[in-house]
Amino acid sequence: MRTIKSVNPATNELLKEFDTITPDALQAVIAKADEAFKAWKETSFAERAAILNKAADLMMSKQRYYAELITLEMGKKIMESLAEVEFSSEYFRYYANNAEALLADKKIDTPLGDSWLSYEPIGVLLSIQPWNFPYYQVLRVAAPQLMAGNAMILKHASNVPQCAEAISDILSEAGLPNGVFTNIYLPGSEVELLLDDPRIKGVMFTGSEKAGASIASAAGRNIKKATLELGGSDPLIILDDADIDAAFSAAIYGRLYNAGQACVSPKRIIIQESVAEKFLEKATAIFDTLKMGDPMDPETDIPPLSSESSVEEILIQIERAVLEGARLIRGGYRSDRKGAYIEPAILTDITPGMTAFKEEIFGPVLMIYKVKDEREAISLANATDFGLGGAVFGSNARAIAIARKIESGMVYVNTLTAASPERPFGGTKNSGFGREQSEAGIMEFVNVKNIVVANGARRDH
Ligand code: NAP
Repeated sequence: MRTIKSVNPATNELLKEFDTITPDALQAVIAKADEAFKAWKETSFAERAAILNKAADLMMSKQRYYAELITLEMGKKIMESLAEVEFSSEYFRYYANNAEALLADKKIDTPLGDSWLSYEPIGVLLSIQPWNFPYYQVLRVAAPQLMAGNAMILKHASNVPQCAEAISDILSEAGLPNGVFTNIYLPGSEVELLLDDPRIKGVMFTGSEKAGASIASAAGRNIKKATLELGGSDPLIILDDADIDAAFSAAIYGRLYNAGQACVSPKRIIIQESVAEKFLEKATAIFDTLKMGDPMDPETDIPPLSSESSVEEILIQIERAVLEGARLIRGGYRSDRKGAYIEPAILTDITPGMTAFKEEIFGPVLMIYKVKDEREAISLANATDFGLGGAVFGSNARAIAIARKIESGMVYVNTLTAASPERPFGGTKNSGFGREQSEAGIMEFVNVKNIVVANGARRDH
């Protein structure tokens, strides 16, 4: 039997193994989900909301337990894991409280008669998610779509099987009918075939460009709806009239948050040259004091990366950057601690022709770019194939003018790009298409049906 392994990256020890699903069992899961959808779509918003609110309560009643699962499986610092459990549970509550209003019939003025839009669930959806926020990534799509009346099959990242199981257990304990949400263990390379099954009606994918492209093409050949939340190389622009202390701290700690493994991490710090030296001084001083350690210890600044393979990939990216002419100011090498640890790095002197500029570095690597003025900042910010988030620090008028010119799905002024259920999340260019969260997110997988009732007075046939 093939297995999916839960490994603690802080020690590289095997925690638990899960059998991958057999082809027959997979067929049974899809059939069950399809059957469960037929009953689920007939339930009221109030019934669905009661279950999701209960799920939020259950999560928070064992917040510490669920947080430790994240930390054990992918190495997130325990304080960040505790926060993730809390903000993930808010997604259940937000959609439990707002889905009915978001999906209420919407009147359309037309001379033909009475006309409105009704928003109807479409069926069983496939959710493919990454490991970097093991609960949040799943719940930001599950909460809206379960409230909309859809059913869901979750294929979570293979390094967080215990977190995947936890979400499924929470929903079933909260009273979600069997089959409405099912977690399956299957390697990523085998998931695409699920889209050929006519009972699967759509797919939401979050992860790398490569896997996203293959999922989008499988969805395309089957004429199915897909949303793609892919990588990013977000700019964070610091102007010379910014609140320098606040901007510097946001850039440095923002880049180290989640060990740099966040899609909207400020991966390119673009800073006006008059304040650039000061920023570098502050960054190196802070990096010199960072304490690497056990992610379960609240005093730890630098936890492990999510896996050994992440360490290897990032070390290769840093080495290539240096070979191509970048300057490595701090870190960037494997720690001698046991586990998937690297010393966080600071890179400067990167130019748009270099690989490090073009690709996403998904780890604790602070990349600093100096620019003369706003024009150069905008041009550098947009000189990327990605377009997910971004941030601008400076006086409001200048920063807002720049924010309008950045080619991305989200730009935050004088604060870091962040997520919250009432605001849409998603990107443009190679960062993908479609939106999650907010009204836009719930609308992605409903049939926007127009009903028109000819009133007789203006019938033209
Ligand atoms: P990944 O390798 O693409 O994995 C993501 C998910 O896709 C996992 O469940 C994985 O399963 C599955 N998968 C892998 N290959 C697949 C394939 N050929 N077909 C279908 N599914 C496949 O991504 P990652 O490198 O672990 O995750 C980090 C990436 O996600 C970064 O680029 C990051 O920026 C991006 N991300 C984007 C957002 C956003 O909202 N835009 C949010 C978070 C992360 P296995 O684990 O079994 O391989």
